[in-house]
Amino acid sequence: MRILVTNDDGIRAPGLWPLVESLKRVGEVVVVAPDREQSGVGTSVTFHQPVRARKARSLVPGVVTYAVEGTPADSVILALGHLFRDGVDVVVAGINEGPNLGNDVFISGTVGAALQGYFYRLPALALSVDAWETSHFEAAAELARLLVEKIASQALPREMLLNINLPDRPLSQIEGIEITRLGARSYADVIQEGHDGRRKYYWIVRGDPQWDQETGTDIWALSQNRASITPIQINMANHTLVSLLRELAPFLFQALRQKDEVDVSH
Ligand code: MN
Repeated sequence: MRILVTNDDGIRAPGLWPLVESLKRVGEVVVVAPDREQSGVGTSVTFHQPVRARKARSLVPGVVTYAVEGTPADSVILALGHLFRDGVDVVVAGINEGPNLGNDVFISGTVGAALQGYFYRLPALALSVDAWETSHFEAAAELARLLVEKIASQALPREMLLNINLPDRPLSQIEGIEITRLGARSYADVIQEGHDGRRKYYWIVRGDPQWDQETGTDIWALSQNRASITPIQINMANHTLVSLLRELAPFLFQALRQKDEVDVSH
């Protein structure tokens, strides 16, 4: 079993290497990760400039490691499409410093990396710990290893994306594992304006999160001092809107046609 490990905190981030160390016990680990911090870039892929990758020194002996001048998604695409084209069995992203909960999965580079593995029809895990300066990576590293073992023994399906968050606690102080749905967490985006002497600029700064503590969500699980596993699928179709839109579609089309007739007659 070959395990691709990546992250969005960059190749030197402290959360990457405990994960590598732990997963080495299950199979061959290879690392392809951004050469610098790329948090918050989501699923972004670099199309407008070249992406460079160089072999880098692994902090865990015997692990082939590449540092990528690009995003987490670039790293996974490069790994699966070129560097390790001969086969990767599972993609694991993390361990991120800071939680990735609720709406944040859309901007998370950690989830964005895992998502690329999922697009390649590989099982993919995104792992985060609920602290911006994490003290305890060991529970996340251990949970990742157990899940990859379950994938290897086919106790879990191949097409699977799991978003996993853990409290920043030693294993002995984590009180359980909840299988959750994504909660609603939104930030007040604060725009800070300044002037650099030539032009105006803006900083988009995240304010305090507004939490939804509804039972059964990922946010709730962490508040209960438990690990959260949220199975994610990418079909975001909103079925409740389908019948309403179906009724509306003929009228929209008719209006388009009328617009066309007006344009032609001019
Ligand atoms: Mn990050």
